[in-house]
Amino acid sequence: MKVVIIGAGVAGLGIGWRLRQAGCSVTILERAQPGGGASWAAAGMLAVTAELEDSPEPERALALRASALWPAFAAELEEASGRAVFLNQGGALLLAGDAAELEVMRSRAGGDLRIVDPAQAKALVPLLGGSLGGLWSPREAHVDNRALAEALTIAFLKAGGVLNPNEAAVRIETRGGRASAVLTPYGRHDAGAVLIAAGAWSGLLEEIPIVPVKGEVIALSPPSGAVLPGPVVWGEHVYCVPRHGRLLIGATVEEAGFDTSVTQAGRKHLRACAEKLMPSLKSWSLSDHWAGLRPKSPDGLPLLGGTATAGLFVAGGQYRNGILFAPAIAGEMADLILGKATVDPAFDPRRFLGDLHE
Ligand SMILES: Cc1cc2nc3c(=O)[nH]c(=O)nc-3n(C[C@H](O)[C@H](O)[C@H](O)COP(=O)(O)OP(=O)(O)OC[C@H]3O[C@@H](n4cnc5c(N)ncnc54)[C@H](O)[C@@H]3O)c2cc1C
Repeated sequence: MKVVIIGAGVAGLGIGWRLRQAGCSVTILERAQPGGGASWAAAGMLAVTAELEDSPEPERALALRASALWPAFAAELEEASGRAVFLNQGGALLLAGDAAELEVMRSRAGGDLRIVDPAQAKALVPLLGGSLGGLWSPREAHVDNRALAEALTIAFLKAGGVLNPNEAAVRIETRGGRASAVLTPYGRHDAGAVLIAAGAWSGLLEEIPIVPVKGEVIALSPPSGAVLPGPVVWGEHVYCVPRHGRLLIGATVEEAGFDTSVTQAGRKHLRACAEKLMPSLKSWSLSDHWAGLRPKSPDGLPLLGGTATAGLFVAGGQYRNGILFAPAIAGEMADLILGKATVDPAFDPRRFLGDLHE
């Protein structure tokens, strides 16, 4: 089967890689450069505890499946691509903002999740100022998401996939009610199946209800002698991720259309929140500042599956967790396109979409 995938983020690349491994002919169309969308802007956390406490069960189950897949997925990808993705399974410390939050954390503790008092928190992260303590989660991890997208690109190409950068899909054609081709300014790509994995831009192509949610991130560099935190640290309105000698501080959350400009207000807010947790960050220098667009659906859950148009699939709406979900989405969407699996009804794109080509 020939599959045309629209979008070379971690979703499109991961699914494309799995489909190539299964013997499909796969072309990925990317309007800019691979891995340059949200997959570039992300902080790379595999935040299975911190991000998903309020999520409905199907999404938590997806997160747990993905989290369990990550170590083997990273090893397989590194082997296939010859590139490191820097999977770090160093855990995360979730600090309580007040006594009420600490109580909620107490109710979540159990198994490998344990409550830490202020002294234990400080022992885990010596940079902390005063804190109320919080929840320690050894199951949290993070990867270098930019390295991940590069490794996926290489693995996909080495597996024989075709990747066309700087070629935007502008229209999906149907024949006899089936998706049959993707049109671009340069030509037409016939397809047995078409997958829309265009991140926050998916709704520009078809009537897919995915909106962009802007997030700004800053990176701080330590003065000489200062040591980065080992684990990821979560506090009020902020998370701090150690990455290659810098501390990433994220992220703002704003519906601002497709604007990816960085703002002084965003920078100040992120710095202030991080310095409240770790006062000595005041002497760290700002070394980078960027913004990206998370793809969000109306109910906040991913859209993973077919549409009412035969042969037309969507993998989108991963919102804040598309890096975490990547290994599960890659395998499960490839199986679905190959007709070997069905979609979880909670993620079925048809909950929002009619026949896109009626
Ligand atoms: C600031 C920020 C922090 C985040 N932190 C985390 C985190 O710590 N952990 C986590 O799990 N997730 C995180 N996320 C979310 C995560 O980045 C996304 O959910 C994930 O990257 C989505 O992947 P994707 O492949 O669907 O989209 P993208 O990576 O955005 O890729 C979509 C691609 O489609 C291309 N495209 C768009 N339209 C077309 C077209 N018409 N034709 C061809 N190509 C097209 C785009 O150019 C882009 O390259 C974060 C996101 C942001 C913005």
